[in-house]
Amino acid sequence: MRITLLGPPGSGKGTQGSLIEQGYGFPKISTGDLLRRAVQNGTPLGIKVKASMNRGELASDEIVIQMVAERIAAEDCRKGYILDGFPRNINQAQRLEELENQHLEVALDIRLSEDALVQRLSLRRICSQCGNIFNLSEKALDRPNVCDTCQGELVQRPDDQPDVLRERLRVYRKETEPLVDYYKRRDIYHRIDGEKTIEAVFQDIRLILDAEIVRNKQTEAVR
Ligand code: AMP
Repeated sequence: MRITLLGPPGSGKGTQGSLIEQGYGFPKISTGDLLRRAVQNGTPLGIKVKASMNRGELASDEIVIQMVAERIAAEDCRKGYILDGFPRNINQAQRLEELENQHLEVALDIRLSEDALVQRLSLRRICSQCGNIFNLSEKALDRPNVCDTCQGELVQRPDDQPDVLRERLRVYRKETEPLVDYYKRRDIYHRIDGEKTIEAVFQDIRLILDAEIVRNKQTEAVR
């Protein structure tokens, strides 16, 4: 099943994407993670996107589309994948549809009030080694600012700083929100209440994905 996770920064796309990956076996592809890794490694692509990422703006469509096209052509994506943070605008969505056999089947839009997003992201820390995400309000850490899993240092993403975050939310409303109507027209859009607990959100997602699996099986049986 080919799935995209929509929703503003901080709505829990990464967390839910990982749960879907564990529960259903489709690989999660986060364009933000791929780009951050490229920046960290100082690759030519990383050097190109670093400044726009640090300002909270989108990286160029050409770069991101090429990166995604290469990744989803891999063998492990044959049965499906979960896109986290892609497409981010209408052009990216159209370009994805132009690729052979890559039309999306489910768009999950995780929604949260803007106050809740800002509150969440100001408390978000990521592990500089393994990439695990922590929210300082949710989980008591064994040691302050140290990852429970790998002992790496926990850091705040530069683009989670308040002024950059405001820009990311502005970009989201202008560029990404139009995808709601886009995927509604394709009849694959599902709105998810992201204010609930992580487990409850995942439960809502499971209902949608399980129904989609049943629907796919029925369609195959008719053929
Ligand atoms: P994320 O981790 O999804 O919040 O993404 C972090 C940053 O990476 C964004 O603010 C953009 O600068 C860049 N980025 C991630 N995905 C995309 C995309 N699909 N198109 C353009 N830029 C992206």
